[in-house]
Amino acid sequence: MSKPSPEVYETGRGMDAHNSVMRDIRSEKQKHYDPHQPTRVWIDEDNTPNGVYQSLTIILNTGGCRWARAGGCTMCGYVAESVEGGTVAHDALMDQIDVCLEHEAENTDEECGLIKIYTSGSFLDEREVPAETRAAIAETFSDRERMVVESLPDFVSEAKLADFTQHDIDTDVAVGLETATDRVRHDCVNKYFDFSDFEAACAEADAAGAGVKAYLLMKPPFLSEPEALEDMISSIKRCADVSGCHTVSMNPCNVQRYTMVDELFFRGGYRPPWLWSVAHALKETADSDAIVVSDPVGHGSDRGAHNCGECDDLVQKAIKDFNLRQDETVFEQVSCECETTWELVIEAETSYNMPLVR
Ligand code: SF4
Ligand SMILES: [Zn+2]
Repeated sequence: MSKPSPEVYETGRGMDAHNSVMRDIRSEKQKHYDPHQPTRVWIDEDNTPNGVYQSLTIILNTGGCRWARAGGCTMCGYVAESVEGGTVAHDALMDQIDVCLEHEAENTDEECGLIKIYTSGSFLDEREVPAETRAAIAETFSDRERMVVESLPDFVSEAKLADFTQHDIDTDVAVGLETATDRVRHDCVNKYFDFSDFEAACAEADAAGAGVKAYLLMKPPFLSEPEALEDMISSIKRCADVSGCHTVSMNPCNVQRYTMVDELFFRGGYRPPWLWSVAHALKETADSDAIVVSDPVGHGSDRGAHNCGECDDLVQKAIKDFNLRQDETVFEQVSCECETTWELVIEAETSYNMPLVR
């Protein structure tokens, strides 16, 4: 059984059995990346409390998530994209930012108003991104209007966020909460923190004049489709009620390689959510006190959220429209015969007979 060295992984948290299985699965992956290159960078459009912005999304290569090295979340394959050795030095991280700025200059005439930085871990964890680098990145983007940085709730503090807010950048922390239900987060996702930690992070962000974007996971493993849908609707509502949490991003679970979800999927024990479930959750929460968006990765494929194959692109397009307009009537324009099958699944699937339909 693989065993990472104690200085690079968290101990005593989460479920030991999940961690042990995930460590073994992840150890099958041997791929190394250049610490001077970002994992990925692209330009897109995003809906924010100040309207729709052109955005530059940066996936910084920071050595990967420490929690993932402990075993980590059952659906997450991101550690596969980390660099060897566990940490990336300040200069190399700043080289990655330069590569991203070049990408922006080459691909758009206008500077993006919104910069989003993800790390496949926690940007605010100083073992991943040193304080010096955080301050330098805030300085680099001080002329932009909005920034989003990704972090687990434990690392969110008013002082760290002040690096950004002191430049008058509207700042948000993206928190991978996954679900508002502690039992589902612990037992299905294998994340170690509680909803109360998320609430505390929101309070820290609020104190710094920053906001929080909650990332929720639609249909973690071990939940049936109706259980997942119910959990998602109540999670969105609970997040929207927390002061400081102004946006909820619902991510349908997709089957990533080298994860527990992948093992279940391979043996016929997991089906990613139906796009009808995603649409239904958006409709049911459209009047909540937060922007609710969703971007189903790999939609229409077996490994991503999908319906019957005929209507997937149409439903995905309606979801994209909803993201920008927050108007649930976009879903009135899509229909398909497979909705009847989905209704049956919602009525009849239980955790001992799932997936009822693949
Ligand atoms: S989902 Fe986030 S916290 Fe969990 S293992 Fe992946 S990167 Fe780490
Ligand atoms: Zn269909």
